[in-house]
Amino acid sequence: MQHPALAAGPAHEAVLRLHEQYADLPLEALFKEDLLRRGIAFTDAALRWSARHKTKAYFIFSFDLVPVSDMAQGENLRAPEEIALVGGPLGFRRTIVSVRVNPASPYHVDVENERLRLRCNGEPLADVLVGPYPGHYAAPLPNGKAMNEVAPTIEWGYLLYLTVFRQCQYFGTDEECQFCDINENFRQQVKAGRPYQTVKSVEDVLAALEIVAAHEDANRAEYLPAGAAHDVHASRDGVLPLLRSHAYTITGGSVTGKLRGQSEIEFYCQYAAAIETKFPGRWIGKMVVQAHEAADVQRFKDAGIRVYHPNYEVWDAELFDKICPGKARTIGRDHWVRRILEAAKVFGPAYVIPNFVGGVEMAQPYGFDTVEGALASTAQGLEFFMSQGVSPRFTTWCPEPLSVLGRDQGPAPLEYHAGLLRLWRDSHRKHRLPVPPGYGDPGPGRAVFSVSAFMDVLEPTPA
Ligand code: SF4
Repeated sequence: MQHPALAAGPAHEAVLRLHEQYADLPLEALFKEDLLRRGIAFTDAALRWSARHKTKAYFIFSFDLVPVSDMAQGENLRAPEEIALVGGPLGFRRTIVSVRVNPASPYHVDVENERLRLRCNGEPLADVLVGPYPGHYAAPLPNGKAMNEVAPTIEWGYLLYLTVFRQCQYFGTDEECQFCDINENFRQQVKAGRPYQTVKSVEDVLAALEIVAAHEDANRAEYLPAGAAHDVHASRDGVLPLLRSHAYTITGGSVTGKLRGQSEIEFYCQYAAAIETKFPGRWIGKMVVQAHEAADVQRFKDAGIRVYHPNYEVWDAELFDKICPGKARTIGRDHWVRRILEAAKVFGPAYVIPNFVGGVEMAQPYGFDTVEGALASTAQGLEFFMSQGVSPRFTTWCPEPLSVLGRDQGPAPLEYHAGLLRLWRDSHRKHRLPVPPGYGDPGPGRAVFSVSAFMDVLEPTPA
């Protein structure tokens, strides 16, 4: 049977027709993937509205489809970090989507009747809510540094994102992961006047977390506890309350030699150890660094980290070598995979969650030509890890124009992303794996993970 909203307009059709084949997936998850791969355009009025609330902090990469120099409306300073889609003609359940700026996107946010609304090629799609400006962003650190630079939050407040090293020692096109714009983004943001620091001091991170903790404790009513459902009907003025922070991620670029006299393990461990000494167990500590040998992984655990993310980025062995040349040279794909499994013995398999970049396996000139080929390869990787209790997760590839692969091509087809959602969910279900820890609630209307829809396709946890 044809979807009743197919008459809504041509740009809806691709997603709605696909939903006829993927009726077992939430419709919101398909639109979320489409928004993530194509980006979002904002009118000036929508940007003026958004600028009063929680705006993009550029917490690590650009995650935009145009460089800052092409943002004629100052989107880099005014676009929201994330949007929550609700209601509309399709009756969306609350769906949180990370904002990737693309003035040429068919998805447009505008102000209508004093509310933000999302349209697709002019057809109404959903109401849009934004996150309030966090009270702790307003408190400058004692040394004057900006809170949204030192300790920004994403996932609607759930996750404190601590990029403590804003560059990567895999430098230049022969070394950097070919989808990654970390070094170029650093340059463009500094040029645009954002107060990026290459390395954040441990003292600044602790001071920032102290401000967050004090603010959240003193203003409990402003925040939703993790696990509580948003009441979208109670949202005032198009603003949806933030969640109380529940986890932090320590990350940054790879350290291949030394950084300020320290190895990658020493450098990143010092932050975890300092946070857990000062705030023992307050947040779920997560670490995104390279794949290391078990003895070094044990040091992350001893420092208080609970979830380890040794991201393998792409499963196919040849693609790994081409897409991650620096990692292939210094560690190698087989060692990387072996180390993931050995880390699972240290942390427990559920607490090792390597990321891959969903869609990059179709990026040309190296990638698969067909959706079927790309999904078959990804399926091998998921089966390999999930059959051993390790549940990888993915972020949706954003072809950032300052990355090598994003210079001259668009995203992977939506069919790939729909297939990936089903594949991931079914593999996860087949192996009876737990909900990945450190990602908040699963399920449509509940998930907060904003850079892919993998949490949106899981069954909701019973209240
Ligand atoms: S290791 Fe690769 S993905 Fe990570 S920051 Fe460096 S270039 Fe980017």
